[in-house]
Amino acid sequence: MGTVMSNELPDLPALDDLQELLRFEPEEGRIWLAEERMVLLRSSELQALRKEMIESLGIDRAKGLLIRMGYIAGQRDADTARRLRPDAPMFEMFSVGPQSHMMTGQVKVVPVSMNVDEISKTFHGIFEWQHSFEAEIFLAEYGVSYEPVCWSQTGYASGFTTRFTGRQILFRELGCMGCGEKVCRIEGRPVEEWDDAEELLRYYRPDRIADQLFTLQSQVTALRENLTAEQSFGDLVGCSAKFLKVRELLARAAESKVTVLLLGETGVGKDMFAKALHQGSPRRDKPFIAVNCAAIPADLIEAELFGVEKGAYTGADQSRPGRFERAHGGTLFLDEVGELSPQAQAALLRVLQESELERLGDTRTRKVDVRLVAATNEDLEEAVRQGRFRADLLYRLNVYSVTVPALRERIDDVPELARHFVDKYSSLHGKILRGITDRAMAMLRDYHWPGNIRELGNIIERGIILADNGGEIEASHLFPQAVPGSPEASNETELNQLAEKLLEQGCQLSVLEQVLIDRAMERAGGNISRAAKLLGLTRATLDYRLKKRVSP
Ligand SMILES: [Zn+2]
Repeated sequence: MGTVMSNELPDLPALDDLQELLRFEPEEGRIWLAEERMVLLRSSELQALRKEMIESLGIDRAKGLLIRMGYIAGQRDADTARRLRPDAPMFEMFSVGPQSHMMTGQVKVVPVSMNVDEISKTFHGIFEWQHSFEAEIFLAEYGVSYEPVCWSQTGYASGFTTRFTGRQILFRELGCMGCGEKVCRIEGRPVEEWDDAEELLRYYRPDRIADQLFTLQSQVTALRENLTAEQSFGDLVGCSAKFLKVRELLARAAESKVTVLLLGETGVGKDMFAKALHQGSPRRDKPFIAVNCAAIPADLIEAELFGVEKGAYTGADQSRPGRFERAHGGTLFLDEVGELSPQAQAALLRVLQESELERLGDTRTRKVDVRLVAATNEDLEEAVRQGRFRADLLYRLNVYSVTVPALRERIDDVPELARHFVDKYSSLHGKILRGITDRAMAMLRDYHWPGNIRELGNIIERGIILADNGGEIEASHLFPQAVPGSPEASNETELNQLAEKLLEQGCQLSVLEQVLIDRAMERAGGNISRAAKLLGLTRATLDYRLKKRVSP
């Protein structure tokens, strides 16, 4: 009990009692310190671990982890101290901490001064550390440090003393062998007696790195998406003449309220162009509402577009506005407008003519101010000729039509688009990739893109999923069937093997052709059209070959 002043500090007691707690059971694969399982590690392992921690987490986080690791060990040993030397004078009991540190091969501790009052729970101590293993492995890896580096040992001293005294005591290194000193020197005080207590305590609080990483990752994804949306209107990327022409035409239409009809194949990005038109217009702060007319059943489309009054039909138990009303002040994008039912076409014509609409089952007319952008991949003039589309509606829609080019007509944009999709989808799938190989890019440029930009996006997304994290997207990730050696190319391999076999047997092309035609006719039950389909020929060609065979 009471106080031990520095000038009367005795030497550390004998540590036989502590050493006796250490038991090796080599045949059982276990080492014990009293009741606790211990592990004998090489310092080179810890050196490698520490290096990896510093390099992947940064020095500050690695430091915190090691301090907290030491802190836990120190707390355990404080319990051992009370059990091992229950009746010994306080200094002897306390010595279990330094001595355990020594016995486990980490450092030699020499007490310099120590002042403990168990009643008032004050503590002040200074110790010298000789040949610290942490300083040694740091020096071996990185050379002389600017800051003390014995992190887990310092954490140990804090953990031990805090548990031992029942008061939060923090140690710090006044000097460190890792900084080029001959020995390390540590000082411990109650936390509130350090001026920079907050700074010191920071390392003793666990930080949820994984949570922070996930949060950061989702922030990055969101920021990236916004960034690309703002800079390039989503997937509207390119610099080819055809692409720039479309952008210019749309920019000119943006200022006015003119109805725009977007033409072009499926997947060329008509929806993106419509959105860009809206964002470039004075209506950009008002709603942009998109409707795919082909995706809504014909009997629901009117209610969907123009709204419903309660009781209009069975099941309409609530009044609701349609998409037109919701787009008020903004832009309504009608995709696949050729799919509209005759009734919906009539109602749409009326809105375009009068700028007002009636909800289903309502007699009131409502004014709406909507800029309409319609789109189709259909030949609407042909639909008019067939009586499926109203001529007067087409006339209204066709005021300002813009044809969005197919991707194969703007093949020079493929590399930029591909890179855009790599950025977009790799953040989405949490992958970091170095890009696309030259060979893969060449294949992207050579492909004919029947599915246009949508297909390009899909292919790149699949490539990102198949590529190794940190690597590049390779040709086989994009076109598995076209690259020899990939699983889907096995058909081609089989065909090659068959060809080899036939050649070995001296089979002639004309014979092979005859056999193939015969088999196909057999399969098709003598139907020439069906057999032609099996062979990838037109009916006329097959017919000609069959006739040629009869009368050569
Ligand atoms: Zn040190």
